[in-house]
Amino acid sequence: MKIISAPLALKEYLKNSKKRVGFVPTMGALHEGHISLIKQAREQNELVVVSIFVNPTQFLKGEDLDSYPKKDEADKKICELSGVDILFFPHAKDIYGEDEVSLVAPNIRGFVLEGSSRPSHFNGVLTVVMKLLNIVQPTNAYFGKKDAQQLNLISLMVKQLFMSVNIVGVDTVRESDGLAMSSRNTYLSLQEREDSLKISSSLYEATKMIRNSILDVKIIKNRMREILRPLEVEYVEILSREFEYLWHVEVGNTVILVEAKVGKTRLLDNVWL
Ligand code: AMP
Repeated sequence: MKIISAPLALKEYLKNSKKRVGFVPTMGALHEGHISLIKQAREQNELVVVSIFVNPTQFLKGEDLDSYPKKDEADKKICELSGVDILFFPHAKDIYGEDEVSLVAPNIRGFVLEGSSRPSHFNGVLTVVMKLLNIVQPTNAYFGKKDAQQLNLISLMVKQLFMSVNIVGVDTVRESDGLAMSSRNTYLSLQEREDSLKISSSLYEATKMIRNSILDVKIIKNRMREILRPLEVEYVEILSREFEYLWHVEVGNTVILVEAKVGKTRLLDNVWL
């Protein structure tokens, strides 16, 4: 495995490779969720590039940029064992200059849900993803369905800006008790870890209701809120896969999303139905 930190060196290297490139952008502290993206990239491409970059522009003031989990050595081992060809490990100063061109998320879809409590978050995400895609120029880029709104906005950016990369959404990997894997789960105390299960439980309950033909969005959301009550819920939404509001669940075209704070940790989860 090659480790490269200079963006232009990576760009030059890849330009000459002429291979089908699969790209997995991450912020490190890798877990099984990231590994599943890497595995899919490995299966579908000749060359696999993983980036580890904790992108400062997607964090708001007061968020966990400085304390974001860092496991560089373990991450390198994981990448090596997962068959990654190139690990891109840039420094912030090589990605961002002083007076920067940047992208703005779409007015509606970028500023609801996650974007409502974190207004500049998706501007930062889209800007860094655009930069990373331009450096790597992959055939396929892999993103988790766990970050459903992020995946939706990146797909939208690629379509609206006529980019040629193919965006692949990968299913959420969970702990055996249902908690969606996340680098931020390491922040949870034992009690919080237990409380966090209310998030996946609320989604399982919604799935069960839908299987029993209860499709009314209001009824499902109310039941989910009951389960989530002990947590500080930021949103519970049931939307179409294009992120439009629904009155009734449309099986095959629905995403149910939850964002809740467990202690100080914000956790996201969703199911695609
Ligand atoms: P992050 O390092 O948290 O920015 O995540 C990097 C990529 O991994 C993003 O595309 C995430 O959506 C994806 N990801 C994070 N957690 C999971 C998970 N539990 N299952 C599948 N993909 C995930």
